[in-house]
Amino acid sequence: MTDVQQFASDNYAGVCPEAWAAMEAANRGHAPAYGDDDWTQRAADAFRTLFESDCEVFFAFNGTAANSLALASLCQSYHSVICSAAAHVETDECGAPEFFSNGSKLLVAPSTDGKLTPEAVRTVATSRSDIHFPKPRVVTITQPTETGQVYTVAEIQALSAVCRELGLKLHMDGARFAHACASLDASPAELTWKSGVDVLCFGGTKNGMAVGEAVIFFDPALAQDFDYRCKQAGQLASKMRFLSAPWVGMLESGAWLANARHANACATRLAERIAGLPGIELMFPVEANGVFVHAPDPVLAGLRARGWRFYTFIGGGARFMFAWDADPARVEQLAADIRDASTETLAAAA
Ligand SMILES: *Cc1c(COP(=O)(O)O)cnc(C)c1O
Repeated sequence: MTDVQQFASDNYAGVCPEAWAAMEAANRGHAPAYGDDDWTQRAADAFRTLFESDCEVFFAFNGTAANSLALASLCQSYHSVICSAAAHVETDECGAPEFFSNGSKLLVAPSTDGKLTPEAVRTVATSRSDIHFPKPRVVTITQPTETGQVYTVAEIQALSAVCRELGLKLHMDGARFAHACASLDASPAELTWKSGVDVLCFGGTKNGMAVGEAVIFFDPALAQDFDYRCKQAGQLASKMRFLSAPWVGMLESGAWLANARHANACATRLAERIAGLPGIELMFPVEANGVFVHAPDPVLAGLRARGWRFYTFIGGGARFMFAWDADPARVEQLAADIRDASTETLAAAA
């Protein structure tokens, strides 16, 4: 365990005080198992208040399970799910959506920036209508995207209009949904059901919890038997209160939004500090809590030599992700080290 913060992943952070306090409170005494407890009721009610909706709420251990089971609940095995080539469900879930749906195929739509467009959805959904091709049934979008861009309310509405027209359901992978709400200064309701989203997976882990994601159905009919699906997939927690209580802490205190705002602000701070440095380029607009930096290899090596950890799995650039507890002084240190590494590299080349 090190005290020095790294920004390689927003999952490096610990648990925020509000979630921790709720866990601690839930740990006093006994409570009924399998979700039949007051914490779970209170968490579901807090979601209904937050979303201004009588939605159905379920709790899963992680995002892969939440996404996969949500998509499976919308599909028969002969259906297909349209996603962006950059979507986590396609690139980072080890085939779990196909596995849990007994074979519903992901159809990857071309995308220049990781976001789906109505045109791309239409092209894929209408490319075939014969019996030999898996029938398009769902569109899934990631909000914000894997590289930190947000879909505006207008963009979600345009996508959902195409979905309605073509008979498709709209699923949202919101592993960082709070960061999108903070970035757009839009309400959770506006970014989901008011804009035509049918099911949302709302991430708790990257928002400051130890573990846990909520699956939220805005159309109760779509949630039918979802509890059985969770149980069969090993996603029904017997001590459910420890998955649900942290949400009570996050939602009732407003920490879910404050955490996301802070994380986003740290990303913006880094982006501003390194803008215009020679050889350094931002690979994507910074709209949430991540910064993707394209830099010459010697600069990346210089950063590693200065002790920084980061991944380069997207286009060879360095990814920096900020969590609820990102220390602004450490962000400044990273910016200074990027500047130094870039100056050093230029000097060596001269
Ligand atoms: C982190 C993440 C998930 C969930 O990942 P798990 O490791 O399964 O919790 C889902 N979607 C996106 C876009 C993510 O970044």
